[in-house]
Amino acid sequence: MRLVLLGPPGAGKGTQARALGALWNIPQIASGDLLRSVVGDGSELGKQAHRYMDRGQLVPDELVLKLIGDRLGQDDARGGFILDGFPRNVAQAEALSGMLKRAGTRVDRAVAVIVPDEEIVRRISGRRTCKNCAAMYHVSFEPPHKSGICDKCGGELYQRADDAEGTVRERLKVYAGTTRPLFDHYGRHGLLKQIDGVGRTDEVEKRILEALDGLLPPAKAGAKA
Ligand code: AMP
Repeated sequence: MRLVLLGPPGAGKGTQARALGALWNIPQIASGDLLRSVVGDGSELGKQAHRYMDRGQLVPDELVLKLIGDRLGQDDARGGFILDGFPRNVAQAEALSGMLKRAGTRVDRAVAVIVPDEEIVRRISGRRTCKNCAAMYHVSFEPPHKSGICDKCGGELYQRADDAEGTVRERLKVYAGTTRPLFDHYGRHGLLKQIDGVGRTDEVEKRILEALDGLLPPAKAGAKA
């Protein structure tokens, strides 16, 4: 399964991608996580990326494509993957098709998770992330047992600078102007399904699975690929 999850920041793509990745035993590849790890290494490239991310703007394609290209080339991604947060514009989508074509594969489906803007702002501005293991919580909807501490690893929880309300609104603007056109792009290729992203995690997962109808389950698909 080579799945692209589209949708605004905070639509729950990360949660769904992790759950489905575990279900199918394929990696969830999140461009935001890859970029945050470059930022974390303190390199000049990381500092440059950080400036865009803090403002809620897209990091230049060149860096993102390099990170994604390297990640897709790793062994665990050969049998399939779930992309979360990538592609974010048409140029990235075209670059992705090119990379996959060279490897003799293609995107099987793009599923867009639809969530209204006000719900996104509510979700993201309450979001807290573990500094250590990147697990996510929400101060109202999914609080940790002990305030400010990760249940999974005991790490410290913090609010990402780009999760503050003003930046979330900027990210939504970028999404509407730059990422939303991907609906047409994947629609034209007959690959797009849109699902409602409001509801419990298991309900949204069920809708994604329904949107994948007709695609072989991963074990059989792997055997054919
Ligand atoms: P995310 O964790 O997906 O919400 O991404 C956080 C930030 O990383 C975004 O607001 C962008 O600044 C940057 N970013 C993530 N993915 C991409 C991408 N595919 N292209 C450009 N910038 C990205």
